[in-house]
Amino acid sequence: MKLAKRVSALTPSSTLEITAKAQELKAQGFDVIGLGAGEPDFNTPDYIIEAAYKSMLEGHTKYTPTGGLATLKNAIIAKFKTDQQITYAPSEIIVCNGAKHALYTLFQALLDEGDEVIIPTPYWVSYPEQVKLAGGEPVYVCGFEENNFKITPKQLQNAITAKTKAVIINSPSNPTGMVYTEDELRAIGEVCLQHNVLIVSDEIYEHLVYDATHVSIAQLSPELKEQTIIINGVSKSHAMTGWRIGYAAGNKQLIGAMTNLASHSTSNPTSVAQYATIAAYEHSQDAVEQMRVEFEKRLHIVYDKLINIPGFSCIKPQGAFYLFPNVKEAAKLTGFSSVDDWAKALLEEEKVAVVPGSGFGAPDCIRLSYATSLTLLEKAIGRMQNFMQKKM
Ligand code: PLP
Repeated sequence: MKLAKRVSALTPSSTLEITAKAQELKAQGFDVIGLGAGEPDFNTPDYIIEAAYKSMLEGHTKYTPTGGLATLKNAIIAKFKTDQQITYAPSEIIVCNGAKHALYTLFQALLDEGDEVIIPTPYWVSYPEQVKLAGGEPVYVCGFEENNFKITPKQLQNAITAKTKAVIINSPSNPTGMVYTEDELRAIGEVCLQHNVLIVSDEIYEHLVYDATHVSIAQLSPELKEQTIIINGVSKSHAMTGWRIGYAAGNKQLIGAMTNLASHSTSNPTSVAQYATIAAYEHSQDAVEQMRVEFEKRLHIVYDKLINIPGFSCIKPQGAFYLFPNVKEAAKLTGFSSVDDWAKALLEEEKVAVVPGSGFGAPDCIRLSYATSLTLLEKAIGRMQNFMQKKM
């Protein structure tokens, strides 16, 4: 079958190979510990599930407006007012099938062939592919480890050309867990305003911050609000990855174009999941905080153990639920020429699955998710220590 060029050019997800290998080993009866999870290990809070069930019994099982129910948009608007002190109109919001779909629709609505989008590295795996699918060109700017994987305003300025349409800011970050400060965002924002570069601010990990405060670049001034499109959703905050609700907030014309596109592709996001999301936002946020506290506890315990493994160095994350250690030295100490090969051997010999950083544009690192129980995390760290001792 001759497939379209656009799919032939897609890079397969870097996590696929190791996940497939881990599944294969599990099926053979091996006790594999997977640290690749990109989702909370908690179930969706009961009151959200109950609201979904009630909505179905009440007959809310039909099409809704493409861009989302008015009541859900109002709940999202209230969330932005409370959390970021930003006021949006319903016409400035679109609800999509997850934040990933909001980003996909955004790039489809925004980019023409050859338009450039600046993507700081390390990046979330889908950004470059989504930009390419829309005909755009990813332009990578390195967030150096020495600078906590953050890009500087000067680096951003140097990467801007006449073709630059947007820059993606993902704070807290997947995969590094870094969080930009207000001052850093202000400086980045100034460069974007000067050059009229749209800021795509992916804030999906907003509520998962530790010893840090999440600030949205859009809340820093009315000009920055105009210059920014915020991407967010309930997948990570409310343990709702399977419900597929995310949204975008920003310029009315752009949101209108995205809604038009969605009307010819997905139509509305699942009605029942929209009702569940209304409950998620209108209820007290105690469950969100309880999950955050649990992630924070795990982070401190696991981080202290991880940095004591020979050849590991790691920036202490301030957000999300990932650790992103540099293990180049560990690979070298054990005779591997690449971190990818080291990670493969760790899975084969110690049955610990981690995601190689090559897929995130950082080939010296690996990503470990602590969205799994402390018992398993401690067991996995023990196996990594064992692996190093055995090989050195
Ligand atoms: N943005 C980032 C940085 C993510 O890590 C993810 C999920 O892993 C998403 C967006 C997509 O989230 P959703 O489940 O809402 O599509």
